[in-house]
Amino acid sequence: HSLHENATVESVKHAVEHGHTHPHIPDYLDYTGYVAGDGYKMLGECLDGTRDVESVIKGLEDSGIRGLGGAGFPTGRKWRFVRAEPGPRLMAINGDEGEPGTFKDRHYLERDPHRFLEGMLIGAWAVEATDVYIYLRDEYPQCREILLREIAKVEAAGHAPHTKIHLRRGAGAYICGEESAMLESIEGKRGLPRHKPPFPSVVGLFGRPTLINNVETVFWVREILEKGGAWFASHGTNGRTGLRTFSVSGRVKEPGVKLCPAGITLKELVDQYCGGMADGHTLKGYLPGGPSGGILPASMADIPLDFGTLEQHGSFIGSAAVVVLSDKDNMRDVALNLLKFFEDESCGQCTPCRVGTEKAVHLISQPKWDEELLVELGKVMGDASICGLGQAAMNPIKQVMKHFRGDFASLQAAE
Ligand code: SF4
Repeated sequence: HSLHENATVESVKHAVEHGHTHPHIPDYLDYTGYVAGDGYKMLGECLDGTRDVESVIKGLEDSGIRGLGGAGFPTGRKWRFVRAEPGPRLMAINGDEGEPGTFKDRHYLERDPHRFLEGMLIGAWAVEATDVYIYLRDEYPQCREILLREIAKVEAAGHAPHTKIHLRRGAGAYICGEESAMLESIEGKRGLPRHKPPFPSVVGLFGRPTLINNVETVFWVREILEKGGAWFASHGTNGRTGLRTFSVSGRVKEPGVKLCPAGITLKELVDQYCGGMADGHTLKGYLPGGPSGGILPASMADIPLDFGTLEQHGSFIGSAAVVVLSDKDNMRDVALNLLKFFEDESCGQCTPCRVGTEKAVHLISQPKWDEELLVELGKVMGDASICGLGQAAMNPIKQVMKHFRGDFASLQAAE
């Protein structure tokens, strides 16, 4: 009874009326429930002129909220930049959530979809976007059905008087989570990252200035406007401000989505939010930001997990997908797994990445690692790849060579 893959708003309405929906739609706060809790009040105040764009953008700037898809660009500033470009302007929502280990956007969409939609529509209002395109991961059919159902209600209630909402499916390509590849994909083309500049805020979707935000970033907009930017900024620890949603998996007792103060360390995250390490496991290392963020050792479990704190270690927080690894894990195997993933997902557009990831998999599959060649390969890929996939792909190998020598040196010694 699941919906036809090319479902439209009309066909979803028809399916819902006849009881033929996805069999695993979770319980979520629907339109009626959301409105009962003052939902769409903030958007209404924007649309009727009670709030002006400047005060809304100022609220976001005061909050310090940054792009939570991984890049961490200040959200208020991005809205301001796009708004300053000549119209017509567009908006795109990155809901591709393809970074392995990341599942926070799904978590929010499956529980409170209207909070996301209201934030999105406030963004569309702020930059006067005529159209907003939601690019949703294809592996989230439940989220898709929820959004199709609820968008129909939002449009019928008149909450999007100046903006047309389009819901687009991804097709399973990791690279389409890279924002410019996502734009290509929305335009109906192969998802190949674009050279930047120009940045999407200037030349984006269909050549128009485009505001691109991640699902979670706009999810927070309503609450920031209701409570004020200072409320969001009042959270934080270890010298950082704001809230961060971590997707935690791996060797912990209680994995899952954890909403934490920005700046929390891995040790605090595991001990205070995840019930500690799983029985029989001792922390050995962790991926702070999915495969692209590299692998850090247990000795670096006290660094604030936030934008700008991990880069000096060749790592980054990205979308805050934390994978906790233990003494039962061999980091050579982990690096090989990650590099095979990058090899599969490289879009093939540029040689350093297309050939480099394949070469790296071959080199680290050997019993003896040619470290000099791996370092050289990493430099070429980092310097000459077009997008972040190729630029960051060698991070895990560099970190294994630096921090986990025992995991491949023992094999070398055995040779
Ligand atoms: Fe494609 Fe890799 Fe080049 Fe990025 S770095 S454009 S994924 S080939």
